[in-house]
Amino acid sequence: MKLALIGFGQAGGKIVDEFLAYDDAVDGGFVEAAIAVNSATTDLKGLEHVPQENRVLIGQARVKGHGVGADNELGAEVTEEDIDEIQGAIDRIQVHEIDAFLIVAGMGGGTGSGGAPVLAKHLQRIYTEPVYGLGILPGTDEGGIYTLNAARSFQTFVREVDNLLVFDNDVWRSAGESVEGGYDRINKEIVERFGLLFAAGEVGHGDHVAESVVDSSEIINTLEDGISTIGYARETVDTSGGLLSSFRGEEEFDEGAEVNRLTSLVRKATLGRLTLPCDVSSADRGLVVATGPPEHLNRKGVERGRQWLEDETGSMEIRGGDYPRTDKDEVGAIVLLSGVTDVPRVDQLQQVAIEAQETTETVRANAQEEFSSLVDTGGELDALF
Ligand code: GDP
Repeated sequence: MKLALIGFGQAGGKIVDEFLAYDDAVDGGFVEAAIAVNSATTDLKGLEHVPQENRVLIGQARVKGHGVGADNELGAEVTEEDIDEIQGAIDRIQVHEIDAFLIVAGMGGGTGSGGAPVLAKHLQRIYTEPVYGLGILPGTDEGGIYTLNAARSFQTFVREVDNLLVFDNDVWRSAGESVEGGYDRINKEIVERFGLLFAAGEVGHGDHVAESVVDSSEIINTLEDGISTIGYARETVDTSGGLLSSFRGEEEFDEGAEVNRLTSLVRKATLGRLTLPCDVSSADRGLVVATGPPEHLNRKGVERGRQWLEDETGSMEIRGGDYPRTDKDEVGAIVLLSGVTDVPRVDQLQQVAIEAQETTETVRANAQEEFSSLVDTGGELDALF
């Protein structure tokens, strides 16, 4: 499906940059336009693939290109004040060519955390195309303020978008990795999963006649509302012996093996590490996409995987299809679970955020009281004016 990507803040910009590289590398064709918005000049300068004219600096009058720190209320304010600057960049997009907007942001910081929901609300008012969010949750070790920001932003963002796709940094970190190195790796994981899904919806039906290719409308229908998570599993296959085995009349055996492989990949994708861990049975809708060389994809395999997911979720709205990739010696399964409601991580985030909010309020009140008593001399000393 064709997307207008908008990366908000540092994480958002870097991930959109990575989406552009990925789209190019796999010849995906799902990025129609890419914009990066930030209140920090250096973050915009650090991007490699987003075109210069699509990098929008906001809040210059207030923060002079230095960013908003981790103040997401300020992030929201400067976005509202400079929404016309962002709209100027969006005006250059051929909006009639896109299927949806996707706003990408780290929820724990300031600019993206505060600005992304404001932009989503603005786009919903102006355009009829769906507006999706890709929200990145902070690691639990990042501290109270990031958790509080993320919980408040999540609450607002999910309200303003048609669907919020979620990726939890906390589940994807590795011990002993530097923060920067870690993000580079994590960003590639993010982009591979979501990129494969969006690229799948971009293959024309004419390109591959035998099987059922996923359509952008199937992705849009699955993403109807709520929050979503993605699972992905893959396996290397031997692409050299196809002709020989069919010559030997082993097609039937092979077909059975391919069906089993696809079903097992769907199972692994669903029960393995999701971008946002959740109780799978709480999903309201789902989409199964099989990817790989066309000779390894078959309708029966996708159908079996789809049925398995139906049983697992108890949902009658599980779609299935394939995304043929002739350049790959891997077969994979992407599982999109949407409308999920049983998500322990979100409950935990909200709980920690509520505690952090209460602590912040108490500390602030105490500090004010202590400061007053520090400067108060009981009227014995006169101020200058
Ligand atoms: P902003 O520029 O004020 O919007 O804030 P940042 O985007 O720098 O940071 C917000 C949050 O995003 C952080 O708390 C991290 O959890 C996360 N983050 C920052 N950079 C990256 C990145 O490159 N990749 C990922 N996955 N997360 C990031």
